[in-house]
Amino acid sequence: MSDTTSTTTAGHRPVIAIAGLAIETSTFTPTRTLAPAFHPDRGDEVVARYPFLASLDADFRGALIGHALPGGIVDRASYEELASEIVARLTAIVASTSVDGLWYDIHGAMVVEGLDDAEADLLGRIRAVIGPDVVVSASMDLHGNVTADLAHQVDLVTCYRMAPHEDAMETKERAVRNLVDVLTTRPVGARRPVKAWIPIPVLLPGEQTSTRIEPAASLYAQVPEVEATEGVLDAAIWVGYAWADQPRDRAVTVVTGWSRDAVAAGAERLAQAFWDVREDFVFVAPTGTFDECLAAALAPGAAHPYFISDSGDNPTAGGSGDMTWGLTQVLAHPAFTDPSGPVVIYASVPGADAVATAVDAGVGATVTVTAGATVDAVHAGPITMTGRVHAIKHGDRDAEIEVVLQVGSVYAILTKTRKPYHHEHDFTDLDLDPRSADVVIVKIGYLEPELFDMSADWMLALTPGGVDQDLERLGHHRIERPMFPYDRVFPSEPDLTARIIPSSNEPLGAVL
Ligand SMILES: [Zn+2]
Repeated sequence: MSDTTSTTTAGHRPVIAIAGLAIETSTFTPTRTLAPAFHPDRGDEVVARYPFLASLDADFRGALIGHALPGGIVDRASYEELASEIVARLTAIVASTSVDGLWYDIHGAMVVEGLDDAEADLLGRIRAVIGPDVVVSASMDLHGNVTADLAHQVDLVTCYRMAPHEDAMETKERAVRNLVDVLTTRPVGARRPVKAWIPIPVLLPGEQTSTRIEPAASLYAQVPEVEATEGVLDAAIWVGYAWADQPRDRAVTVVTGWSRDAVAAGAERLAQAFWDVREDFVFVAPTGTFDECLAAALAPGAAHPYFISDSGDNPTAGGSGDMTWGLTQVLAHPAFTDPSGPVVIYASVPGADAVATAVDAGVGATVTVTAGATVDAVHAGPITMTGRVHAIKHGDRDAEIEVVLQVGSVYAILTKTRKPYHHEHDFTDLDLDPRSADVVIVKIGYLEPELFDMSADWMLALTPGGVDQDLERLGHHRIERPMFPYDRVFPSEPDLTARIIPSSNEPLGAVL
């Protein structure tokens, strides 16, 4: 399809294909992610997944969308299987209708065995089917990465403006709405938006860059201001993903629009603003060792429920979620050995055999089970505990089966497969009341909104694991240098001028 024939005329209802794979993968955890973890939706299932599509003036054709919980690096054969199916489905769509646009729904921090830029690789395979002239709009997580190659292959690209990502669906809708607008109203002679891209040599953990607090709050407040500039379609800042060790990992700004001057100025404003506040990013809550956090939670006068993030094994950041280090510390703590001690809820450790044993025994039975550390035994081995079965639940999408074991005054949640605990009902469904507990410990980084609302106080425990918040102790070898905060002294100020990235139907050239 030539650019001439794909230029949409007024009254034409554009056809937009949808494809993408989304996962956030730590290269510091020994786990591997396999194809079923993406829970792929296909064809009409894809369209049904996004209710906002019904209100847009376009026809949508779902290819395949897969969203996996964060985890370890994606097994190469699994990626090939999913990418091949996306290519096959798009080939069929292109054979049946003229496709004007493609919505690329990704996260941006997917690491595949043997690939340093999986999202650009996948879009390259997609472009091989749809051609260089179809307009592509990508929606991403702000913890994703945008290389020059990826920026080259897309026409529009945006990401969340809130962390935690309360604007996830709004961002996807904006990406598709902008695509529809470009396809139906693009100015004569301006066939593709102009893209200004700027890499920023800063790589920080999400727990220091929450938009709930400064300086990220004020930094991200500038994004809609840039977006509102004449000649700009969209503006975005990526924090990047700190727990992968790849050359692409760093912060980036991209601004897209019809005015070269406006997108360049907007991207430069955001990049300079990010660089200027780099020293001001701090953790969103008081931090400490696990022992320090437990001591604070048990101190006289501490407010309850006191939440503690066991952050090193946070499954929603890419940790295996399989570690036993935190629960081992809790069960060994003398304050919790007696059932009349302070009530502690611990979420969670996977252990299929332990769950099966508890289910067989039933609620109220006393069992001895072993759980965890089947893939990540770097810091602690499988944990054996004897306790009373407090609750059993079947049917969770992630966990499949959950049981609660009461050991002393600790209510330990064990799952068949790993699951993040973000919502109040995740606990109340298990006959647990986090609001009346003394201490609630969750494998998470910053508290998700419902947990934050329930907490009377909280601390972020700097525990070991695949998403260790102490980045310098993890050891990155492949990121570009100098990189803040790994390097505090820069030989010269970084180049934060806008690189104008050519459209996908023109060569990328040397934009770096
Ligand atoms: Zn994110």
